[in-house]
Amino acid sequence: MTEQPAAPLPTIQDNLARIRDRTHNAAARAGRAQSSVTLVAVSKTHPTDAVREALACGQLSFGENRVQEAAGKFPDLRETWPGLRLHMIGGLQTNKARDAVRLADVIETLDRPSLADAIAHAIAQEGRTPQLLVQVNVGDEAQKSGIPTDQADDFIQQCQARFGAALAGLMCIPPAEGDPAPHFDWLAQRADRHGLAIVSMGMSGDFEIAIAHGATHVRVGSAIFGARG
Ligand SMILES: *Cc1c(COP(=O)(O)O)cnc(C)c1O
Repeated sequence: MTEQPAAPLPTIQDNLARIRDRTHNAAARAGRAQSSVTLVAVSKTHPTDAVREALACGQLSFGENRVQEAAGKFPDLRETWPGLRLHMIGGLQTNKARDAVRLADVIETLDRPSLADAIAHAIAQEGRTPQLLVQVNVGDEAQKSGIPTDQADDFIQQCQARFGAALAGLMCIPPAEGDPAPHFDWLAQRADRHGLAIVSMGMSGDFEIAIAHGATHVRVGSAIFGARG
């Protein structure tokens, strides 16, 4: 018997092309312009070379969940790719706020008053203001970060008063089980109610549903870079 050669693994370029197609199709099905959805490529745990490969395909927005890892990967890349945009998408300790403010273009995980204090202090120290998204714990899950739903309106208003237009939107990670659509609707409606333009929701498993329900930013990791080790 002759052995079949293994099918070559899809490259980051292949994966990106496929995810872009699916993103554009989902936008079209929802009657939305392609340009209304930004793909954020979540490169956490993947090496800088993987980020370079995506950059070479024209991907400019990236997501990282740990400040230290982002600090090791991104400052050098920015020199070559000035259009690069780094989103911090992981739970943020107050003692990492200053590094996050220095590094990030968007901090997606503003989820409690103590972190708002730390970020405000860091903005004053650094003289640099990233865009900020309030993360809402849409499923009110005990183990998950995000402001609880019943406190979201007050917290969003406080952050808008404090940060002005830098408070640019909302972010959520819906419960792993069950239909994410009602949570996506909830977040999009809240953003609209508060006049916020950015709605960051949807990951590899559900980004098309998120687009159908109003996501302006989808955060896709494993479907682009492969499984995380
Ligand atoms: C890791 C991560 C993602 C990407 O998840 P995939 O399922 O790999 O697409 C998106 N958002 C957040 C907040 C993450 O931590």
